[in-house]
Amino acid sequence: MKKKVFVNRTLNLKKITHIGLDMDHTLIRYKTENFEKLAHEIMLKKLVSTREYPESILNLKFEYNRAIKGLVIDKNAGNLLKVSRFGGIKESFHGLKPIEYYQRKKIFANTFIDISEPNYDTIDTNFSISFATLFAQLVELKNTSEFQSLPEYNQIAADINYALDQAHQDGSLKSVVRDNLADYIIQDEKIVHHLEKFIKHGKKIFIVTNSEYPYSKLLLDYAINPFLKDHKSWMDLFEITITGSKKPRFFYDNLRFLKIDPETGSMTNVSSKLTPGIYQGGSANVFTSDLNLDPGNILYIGDHIYGDVVRLKKDCSWRTGLIFEELDDEIKSNDKCSALNSEVEALMAEKIPIEIKIDELISDEIENNHKNNRTEINQLLEKVSQLDKTISPLITKIQSHFNPYWGEIMRTGIEESYFAYQVERFADIYMPTLLDFFEQSPRAYYRSSRRLMAHDDGQ
Ligand SMILES: [Mg+2]
Repeated sequence: MKKKVFVNRTLNLKKITHIGLDMDHTLIRYKTENFEKLAHEIMLKKLVSTREYPESILNLKFEYNRAIKGLVIDKNAGNLLKVSRFGGIKESFHGLKPIEYYQRKKIFANTFIDISEPNYDTIDTNFSISFATLFAQLVELKNTSEFQSLPEYNQIAADINYALDQAHQDGSLKSVVRDNLADYIIQDEKIVHHLEKFIKHGKKIFIVTNSEYPYSKLLLDYAINPFLKDHKSWMDLFEITITGSKKPRFFYDNLRFLKIDPETGSMTNVSSKLTPGIYQGGSANVFTSDLNLDPGNILYIGDHIYGDVVRLKKDCSWRTGLIFEELDDEIKSNDKCSALNSEVEALMAEKIPIEIKIDELISDEIENNHKNNRTEINQLLEKVSQLDKTISPLITKIQSHFNPYWGEIMRTGIEESYFAYQVERFADIYMPTLLDFFEQSPRAYYRSSRRLMAHDDGQ
């Protein structure tokens, strides 16, 4: 079986007593494109009905590949940015138009992004794809004479956020999901069987989700209950279920737990220590101390790079796992490109010595005050230009295997992306789906491999 769980820091599952799971996009898989299309449509309607946007915006069509995970949204400037691990801007769009290389150099020269600034938002989860797409589309519209009167870019972002909040609060998004579960939610029998296998091994499994109880119950009833063999309901399968958890605050604050009655959904204060059951709110701190757990023996797995992984790692000593759905396609595309990458590398190996030779010839002219190398320099420059003509279509071919606007999620050119940096730094393990994790043995020993650094020179 091909390796599907990737390891940044060694993790011995035998030591892990408790496995915590996020729900949306982790335990419960969505048909993401359908869901984001729906969110896009509902946000447009809300902008028209509550924020007085012109009705003609309802014609905007959702474009799923306009945004990818890890992008930074510059709300003041109306830009989407792809950022390297050092915070340098590597790709950028203003509205729907790419900002070309030279213009980008002029605008962003030496700008390094600090994503903690309030002007920036990041696409940390698939739930933000529709937001980023709609923002880019409305910025694009505002730049046309017909739609000049749309609000400033940062107000557009605030309005979209408001529309999304409204869609959640008044249930307009969730009621469509409820009535058409099969269109939006994936049922997977295998994951349920593997969860029961882990429980046989003595692992306690719990859920911490920001979704509220009624929605969580809807999804878990649909995706878990039909496939259980040893349990009656997901309520018996999971030791503790925490809904409405307000992550990332759950990991660093001390909010109170409320106990939920599974029948009525009504909530009561918790006066004693946590026992198995369903809760709302709470904190990792109280969870760990009430159950008398060693935080190093808890593994938490989620898909939100900031809320589930980065913030957790900064505040608690639980171990972390990241679900990163796009990884499967990214690995397959990289495999497909390996022959093309070798061709590019071979051509670069030809090109670099020629460029060094050109520099030597120019230096010789400067230092000895003559122009005798011109012919040779021109011949070599011609060779470089021929090589570039061969390399360029190969690069285009490589890029065609990835997102047409943004390329790979994990890389920007040869550098790692900022998203890749966060994964490497904060996720102990990462994998495309939760099933990839649960298909492995509950006694697995995940070993990190020796990493290459710049000075290792591939040895
Ligand atoms: Mg999630």
